[in-house]
Amino acid sequence: MSGPRVVVIGAGMSGILAAIKLGEAGIRDVVVYEKADRLGGTWRENTYPGLTCDVPSHFYSYSFALNPEWSHRFPPGAEIEAYFEEVARRYGVDRLIRYGAEVDRCAFEGGRWRLATRDGRADEADIVIAATGVLHHPSHPDIAGLDGFTGACFHSARWDHAVPLDGRRVGVVGTGSTAIQIVTALVDRVATLRLFQRTAQWIAPAANPPYSEEEKEGFRHDPAAMLAIREETTRAFEDGFANVLVDADHPMLHAIQAGCEAYLDTVRDPVLREKLRPNYRAACKRLIMSDGFYEAIQRPNAILVTEGIERVEPAGVRTRDGALHELDVLVLATGFRVDQFVRPMRVVGRDGVPLDDVWRDGPFAYMALTVPELPNFFMLNGPNGPVGNFSLIDVAELQMHYVMQLVEAVRSSGRREASPTRAAMARFDADRRQAAKTTIWNTGCKSWYLDATGLPTAWPWTFRRFRDEMAQPRLDDFDLR
Ligand SMILES: Cc1cc2nc3c(=O)[nH]c(=O)nc-3n(C[C@H](O)[C@H](O)[C@H](O)COP(=O)(O)OP(=O)(O)OC[C@H]3O[C@@H](n4cnc5c(N)ncnc54)[C@H](O)[C@@H]3O)c2cc1C
Repeated sequence: MSGPRVVVIGAGMSGILAAIKLGEAGIRDVVVYEKADRLGGTWRENTYPGLTCDVPSHFYSYSFALNPEWSHRFPPGAEIEAYFEEVARRYGVDRLIRYGAEVDRCAFEGGRWRLATRDGRADEADIVIAATGVLHHPSHPDIAGLDGFTGACFHSARWDHAVPLDGRRVGVVGTGSTAIQIVTALVDRVATLRLFQRTAQWIAPAANPPYSEEEKEGFRHDPAAMLAIREETTRAFEDGFANVLVDADHPMLHAIQAGCEAYLDTVRDPVLREKLRPNYRAACKRLIMSDGFYEAIQRPNAILVTEGIERVEPAGVRTRDGALHELDVLVLATGFRVDQFVRPMRVVGRDGVPLDDVWRDGPFAYMALTVPELPNFFMLNGPNGPVGNFSLIDVAELQMHYVMQLVEAVRSSGRREASPTRAAMARFDADRRQAAKTTIWNTGCKSWYLDATGLPTAWPWTFRRFRDEMAQPRLDDFDLR
């Protein structure tokens, strides 16, 4: 294939990365479609108070664009968005982006991908890189009466900054990382803060010190210092976390549990402490990192509500015990529909079969990237990829390295198309399902890591294995044409 035309869908962290790597490989015929009017994905959409990265900044950076200016160990969301904008500018990616263009349909017809956008544009491509995000489609809870609430109500990923918060009565539904960050950031600004908790969460203490001017000056003159932090963090996260999650008996998991329990022990009121104590193992759900949540929830104006929500009424939230919790603002920190991936875009493969049909029982992808009969169609951070408390930038970079090698292998063999064989897909999926059974995610909690049958969907092997797999595609697993 000479001079392939590549369409990248999405201009978040993964799409920007894809455009940079394609350019570095000398592939010039590249366009990026982005449905919004700005790049940044997650970091454009999430602007809630308290948003920070929960992996250290020098780890949550592109390996080729380390950033001496990070203000904190876990920097705020706005700073991360600005970082992606700056990198996109520096590498000329912004020139390739077509904004306001939501790809609606993507079908493999006559040996090429034919794309259509919602606003009527049409395009063709030899290669499609779907960088459409995982935590992207807000999940709205099915609570009776929500529409009748007379105060302000919005999802955490659609924060309404016109709504005043100071001195108001605020409620937060949900207890994931987002809710914990919001509570910690808001408690001292509002009159009362009610956290509606269905499931208690294990929380690991994570101090968030700023980088001093001196440290930043050091990073500017000696990038090796940032690299050293990055490498140390990578090692610590992989050996101390990512690699142990896939072995529910690993001693390190008990150490993580002990760390979370010790932090929970800092809660002084024994009744509150027990309400906050999860009844499952630490890291079964995504572990929450926090610099101050237990302190925040112990403030006199913070109220942890553990009674189930009966319904929302015009004045507030009615819980099952009959109590009415009057509120001015209700924040739905209820997460995302993580089974959507490239959808609602309609993708149709070589055989004319819609991806929706192929994924009827849930999304899957060979190496978290690609699906049989979808030639040259690659999903960055696709289904079954590594998730957990580490950098998804690392995942996307490894995947892009793999994609570029595959593209080169196809090109140098005089072929045009690569898609995984059905046999390779079936073997990968069977091995994945088997391995998922012994992971910490399968030890008896409900989480967004599980599919409809209750099986963890994430990469169930070590991160080391992911690195090894991504180092070189197994060409025997591909149908090359
Ligand atoms: C609150 C929050 C905190 C997070 N914290 C961390 C963290 O600490 N560490 C970490 O590693 N990860 C974190 N994540 C995960 C984060 O989503 C990823 O790190 C990363 O930003 C994902 O980038 P992406 O480009 O793959 O997807 P996204 O950032 O979701 O970007 C996808 C882009 O594609 C566009 N798009 C989607 N569909 C279409 C279409 N059909 N046509 C055109 N454009 C389309 C979207 O508008 C969007 O701009 C967090 C996520 C959230 C929501």
